[in-house]
Amino acid sequence: MSLWPAGSRRVLVIGIDGVRLDLLPELATPHLDAVAAAGFLAPVEVDDATPTMSGPCWTTIVTGVGVAKHGVYGNHFGGNRLEVFPDFTTRLATTHRRRTFAVGGWEPLFLARQGGPLFTAPGRLSYIAPLEDTPEAWEVCDERVTAEAVSVLTGDDDPQATFVYLGAVDETGHFLGCGEEYRQSIRNADERLGRLLAAVRGRATYAEEEWTVIVVTDHGHLDQGGHGGRSVLERTAWIAACGPGLPAGARVEPLHHTDVAAHVYAALEIVPDPHWTLEGRPFTPVAEPLPVG
Ligand SMILES: [Zn+2]
Repeated sequence: MSLWPAGSRRVLVIGIDGVRLDLLPELATPHLDAVAAAGFLAPVEVDDATPTMSGPCWTTIVTGVGVAKHGVYGNHFGGNRLEVFPDFTTRLATTHRRRTFAVGGWEPLFLARQGGPLFTAPGRLSYIAPLEDTPEAWEVCDERVTAEAVSVLTGDDDPQATFVYLGAVDETGHFLGCGEEYRQSIRNADERLGRLLAAVRGRATYAEEEWTVIVVTDHGHLDQGGHGGRSVLERTAWIAACGPGLPAGARVEPLHHTDVAAHVYAALEIVPDPHWTLEGRPFTPVAEPLPVG
């Protein structure tokens, strides 16, 4: 018998802004590698309708619908339709009474600034401001975001769905291009991912729980830093995930950013209402061909 009315399922989504897929093979990212080995890591192409900018891409990721529905076309969130197409932490908290949590340091995701917030009504929300707009300040911010997330994930709140936003990698790319500082920032993000995974595994009730972990980036970066255009480097994002229904080493059907929210609902065993008009679908392992003979 389940201790929790809503079951033993839990989901942790870690959004790392602006991480180039092509650089991952040359960087030591053991914690991301562990998620990929336990499930998969696969590319996502930002679709033709979506500017390769953080605002529209993150909105698509957490709502499960594209720009034509959610209405976020840039980094100003004004004119959005999030009341109709809310993020998963809000939808789960308001219509499914699930405990949810969102944390990060980019204002319009969490505050009523620049037309935001994207996360309109999660069960718990933490905004942690970078002290200034520099790569160094963003590393400090992401450290504090990670500490806050670890505290909540191991505390009494017991969120069933959590979104953690890490912004330092993208900021470093904008300020310094995609050189050594950018690469080091990716390693830093991976180390923070490791602490979040350790927090989950360290929960007193971990043995009775079934966790889905999704790590996702929103877009890439040009070599000199910057994005928003249609180049392959800018359009290429990725998703890594592991959990129930995702066998280790799974190959998955081609992915879209809209699939993240769809998978969150599936991982919590919630059947989306057709009125939500989700455009994504849960991550689906490719059926292996039957052995010949
Ligand atoms: Zn971004």
